[in-house]
Amino acid sequence: MGEPIAASTLGYVTDLVDSFALEREPNKHLYRLLRATVGAIADQPSRETRARYFEAWLLRLAGSYPRRKSCPVCSRLLADEGARYLASEQRLECQRCLGSGVSLSSPSVRFLEAIWRQPPDGLAPPEARGVLRELGAFHDRLIQEQLDKDLKSRRVFDDMLREGEDL
Ligand SMILES: [Zn+2]
Repeated sequence: MGEPIAASTLGYVTDLVDSFALEREPNKHLYRLLRATVGAIADQPSRETRARYFEAWLLRLAGSYPRRKSCPVCSRLLADEGARYLASEQRLECQRCLGSGVSLSSPSVRFLEAIWRQPPDGLAPPEARGVLRELGAFHDRLIQEQLDKDLKSRRVFDDMLREGEDL
């Protein structure tokens, strides 16, 4: 595990906190989350998993994570059907009802449910391939909607991951 990837993770996480704190009152939940995540980033091998965890909770604390267990159109469970993001309504629908949009496969929806249940240091990396990538694309979309810009540190982080040091 190289130092560059730890540094780029911390850079990205710090940038996120900065950007979100500018828009909203900093709150104690955010700083508790930051402390817990930074601790876990130092300890744990899968930094991409921690980064996805952090993004999810940051967006949720900012009140902008579209969460639901079942499809609003057909009531099927998203964990069974997989989900897609309907950006115009800022909500999730199941993959039977919605044919396009950022996709979260069934394993990704299940992993997300684990994120809501677990502290960062109790979360094992997902078994299914592609889960972290799907969640990353979804979070990227939500962060851009929130901040109206790309974070450079996110690109640096992604580049580091692509160099194959972590998963
Ligand atoms: Zn549906």
